[in-house]
Amino acid sequence: MKNAVPEFAGPVGISLNHKHMSALKRIHFVGGRCAFGAFAAVSALFGSVFAQLSIEPAEDGESVRLVVSGESGETWNLEYSDDLVEWLNLGEDSAVTLDEEGNGNRVVVWTGETRYFRSSFVETGNGLPAPFSAFSEDLVMYIDGDFMVIETTNVPDHPSPYFPESDERYEAYNGDNTNYRQNPNTIAAQSFVYRIPMNPVEATNKTETMLGSIGIAINGVAFFNQYAGPDQPLTNEIDSFDQYSGHPQNTGVYHYHVEPLYLTGLEGEEGLLGVLLDGFPVYGPMENEEVVTNDDLDEYHGHFHATDEFPDGVYHYHFTDTDPYLNGGEYYGAPGTRTN
Ligand SMILES: [Zn+2]
Ligand SMILES: [Zn+2]
Repeated sequence: MKNAVPEFAGPVGISLNHKHMSALKRIHFVGGRCAFGAFAAVSALFGSVFAQLSIEPAEDGESVRLVVSGESGETWNLEYSDDLVEWLNLGEDSAVTLDEEGNGNRVVVWTGETRYFRSSFVETGNGLPAPFSAFSEDLVMYIDGDFMVIETTNVPDHPSPYFPESDERYEAYNGDNTNYRQNPNTIAAQSFVYRIPMNPVEATNKTETMLGSIGIAINGVAFFNQYAGPDQPLTNEIDSFDQYSGHPQNTGVYHYHVEPLYLTGLEGEEGLLGVLLDGFPVYGPMENEEVVTNDDLDEYHGHFHATDEFPDGVYHYHFTDTDPYLNGGEYYGAPGTRTN
């Protein structure tokens, strides 16, 4: 019995991977509603690397052609979510090298029992070890010895009243703080390079957090500590937090001192939200359906137990809704570095 050509009613879990200048480049194909003949193509741009993936029915009416287009001579690896492995001919070796026109393709056949739609791909993340698996594919990330290097422009992936009004990412303040008072700064792209320990351990001698970035959120935005300036509490700064609870400082570095509301909206209040410079992960303000308070945490604002990403247990920080919000003033582990 022939299997009917499926309609893609949901996102499809296929990603393109490309090794380029030691950085892992990855594009997830997440085109929804892509009935054949009117397929949707998703493209992405990472530095100089560009590729596009689309899905077409093959001529025989039984197969699917995965078409990759990009720069001539590049090789991309197709990787599939768990619910697609039943597709025939996927195999381990699914590299597609693009011809001089910049085109390549791979033909696959589906089975009747296969569920076609992405269901488990989110957990697969970007292929990097936790906690970095949760980080945006828009960041350039690569492993250098014992460090994960992350390069980011630090520009938030959500709107803000701190973009120029003419910018399409501008969104007037629409939060619920009646005392909102915008600061005079504007978001500006940065050139942050973080080097974060991949295998963090508790430091014997603790290091104080400094002003400026003390870690990085999964969307590439900086985390700042609980101070507005040397020994100045955040009290007056809080009213300038936008509807996503961030704001830029005077050189345009957008940052979160408190729970990043856009990210907890996406990842949930218990979600993994980023990592501090010492390599220990940062989680949201809830756990096991209960609000985490400062009393649940040690002087560094963290504690140890198992999480979804670390079933064997991990030391981790939590955001809380009272000072110091994210970190107690010293890193639990030895911090890596960040330059900008
Ligand atoms: Zn600030
Ligand atoms: Zn916890």
